[in-house]
Amino acid sequence: MFKKILIANRGEIAVRVIRTCRKMGIKTVVVYSDADAGSMAVEMADESVHIGGSPAAQSYLVADKIIAAVRQTGAEAIHPGFGFLSENAAFAKRLEEEGIGWIGPNAFAIDSMGDKISSKKLAAEAGVSTVPGHMGLIEDTREAIKISKQIGYPVMIKASAGGGGKGIRVAANDKEVEEGFPAVKAEAKASFGDDRVFIEKFILEPRHIEIQVLGDKHGNCLWLNERECSIQRRNQKVIEEAPSPLLDPETRKKMGEQAVALARAVNYDSAGTVEFVASGKDKGFYFLEMNTRLQVEHPVTEMITGIDLVEQMIRSAYGEKLKLKQSDIKINGWAVESRVYAEDPYRNFLPSIGRLKRFHPPAEGKLGNGEVRMDSGVREGDEISMFYDPMIAKLVTWGKDRDTALDVHGEALDRFHIEGIQDNIPFIAAVMDEKRFRSGNITTAYIKDEFPEGFQGVPATRAQEAQLICSAAYVHAFFDRRAGEISGRLAPRAPRREWVVILGDQHHPVTIDIGRDGEAEIAVDGGNPHSLMTSWKPGRHLVEGALDGNAFAVKFADRTEGYLFRHRGVALRALVCTPFVADMHSRLPEKPKADTSKLIISPMPGLVVSMDVTLGQVVQEGEAVCIVEAMKMQNIIRAGANGTVKAINVKAGESVAADEIMVEFA
Ligand code: ADP
Ligand code: ADP
Ligand code: MG
Repeated sequence: MFKKILIANRGEIAVRVIRTCRKMGIKTVVVYSDADAGSMAVEMADESVHIGGSPAAQSYLVADKIIAAVRQTGAEAIHPGFGFLSENAAFAKRLEEEGIGWIGPNAFAIDSMGDKISSKKLAAEAGVSTVPGHMGLIEDTREAIKISKQIGYPVMIKASAGGGGKGIRVAANDKEVEEGFPAVKAEAKASFGDDRVFIEKFILEPRHIEIQVLGDKHGNCLWLNERECSIQRRNQKVIEEAPSPLLDPETRKKMGEQAVALARAVNYDSAGTVEFVASGKDKGFYFLEMNTRLQVEHPVTEMITGIDLVEQMIRSAYGEKLKLKQSDIKINGWAVESRVYAEDPYRNFLPSIGRLKRFHPPAEGKLGNGEVRMDSGVREGDEISMFYDPMIAKLVTWGKDRDTALDVHGEALDRFHIEGIQDNIPFIAAVMDEKRFRSGNITTAYIKDEFPEGFQGVPATRAQEAQLICSAAYVHAFFDRRAGEISGRLAPRAPRREWVVILGDQHHPVTIDIGRDGEAEIAVDGGNPHSLMTSWKPGRHLVEGALDGNAFAVKFADRTEGYLFRHRGVALRALVCTPFVADMHSRLPEKPKADTSKLIISPMPGLVVSMDVTLGQVVQEGEAVCIVEAMKMQNIIRAGANGTVKAINVKAGESVAADEIMVEFA
């Protein structure tokens, strides 16, 4: 076996690969950029090599620097993780020439599958069902309209070199093709330097279902069941599960066998994924593309099959024969993964960067009726920078069936506490409890359908409200009592029993009696007292226990004014004060909001890509003012009202902070 492996990646996937290497007794080297000095992966690896500046183009994408790090450390092989160089056939080829091991598929397979038109042709030849459409190149808009009519609307216009959800448009009629075709061509040229475009049928009620395959260098290839990844925003997956609620055993077998047929056609010799779009209408399924690398969502497959995919990749790369047979591959229970993104779900999922003031993931292992696995690459105190993907961790839960896995996911999210940046945990938690998601009747349009106005949080149920109020009262009364005990100079006083918990503009008078060992009786709004049992201790940000015998967990953050309590999709700011202060509070006049209608404010920290207005220019409402980029995403900032540009405070190439005033109107 290899003695030392270099990991050409960062974040959670670098940590993930290190974990398996440790288990296998293989030494690890990670490379890192300026922004990742001292990262969790760097700390965990046996050796680390600095390879350059923070932008990936100066570090993780520079083949020469990575190969120099291999030479310097004597590593025998490279694991590329995903993204970066993982699907770069020229890099894989060069390693082969230089005698360095590549923990991925052969360069021919990467090359064949890197292009959507040629991979679709290969798939059709291998007997894989493909989306009806036009396999050839399309020259101009007139031809595009003619072909779209032949295929039948709606159609999808795609860049052949596309990836990551870029270069894709749906068109429902001639007019939309007329607009969409040149737009996709231009985007393809700009993003991939390749403007070849093709058109295929848009599959109705589309569901994203993919098959994991695994091959070796001896002609063996298996399929490891499917994952469903239909919950996406901006074509990025957010929640994935295995198996898929849509598939029956026959369809699964058909898909699996087609995926293996395609893999065999390119002598596939590693872990890979064949993506299909399946129709919720008739269960038809069609090949989309093959990803010739480890996939972000691979852990759900590991949880239901018990197979360590990274280990299998390493063994195949070393030349070992697969020990598994197709009949060894089983489905045990159900697994769900959610991607925890540094983004603000309440503001259209805009990226959020900053320091992780607190980062308390749920503990791995048993929880409720299932299991928790955490794949994360950050620690408390780490800086989330604007240079890379906004995904900071993946939560994976397992249960004996889908409902159990989802229940455990909700419980785990209640124990996942992040402060310092915005995170999408309340959104994921809301989806876990949402009726349609629970029913399994999902499509790739789910987020748009169910959250058409974006995510506004979830209103608390009566039970949740009681949990929030009692937790807030308990924590606050506890601190108050302790402050009374340790101040020393004051005469000892009896702990205060009467408090008011203010949630939003609702005042809830409470009477609390704290007993021993985390017991308390708490009467809310003059009602019968609730009985609270909790193991909460000062310093912890999770109130866990039982209210009236029902288990619950509520997390909270200290705020300069009050506490922020979170439970599932509910987030409420609670102010706990004495009845006197509560009374004063209700008399305070509302603070007037500052007038920002004449300002263009950066919604997030990032890099100004372009400034599209000039001094004195008259701008209409909705017109693009500038573009700010952060975390692989370009955001067009538009004018909120008509106006004349009076001042421009930033220019292209400069970075901006969140809430910085970029442009002012007269
Ligand atoms: P797809 O949507 O094509 O199935 P994934 O969802 O697995 O692919 O990832 C989307 C793209 O972004 C891929 O190219 C993947 O390699 C890359 N990517 C996703 N997350 C990260 C990350 N945390 N670090 C680096 N690259 C990433
Ligand atoms: P990328 O390389 O960007 O991942 P894909 O070809 O995998 O591009 O498509 C991205 C997503 O778009 C898929 O996950 C699927 O949800 C949707 N999609 C792609 N093709 C079709 C189609 N013909 N009909 C309906 N949805 C599609
Ligand atoms: Mg894809």
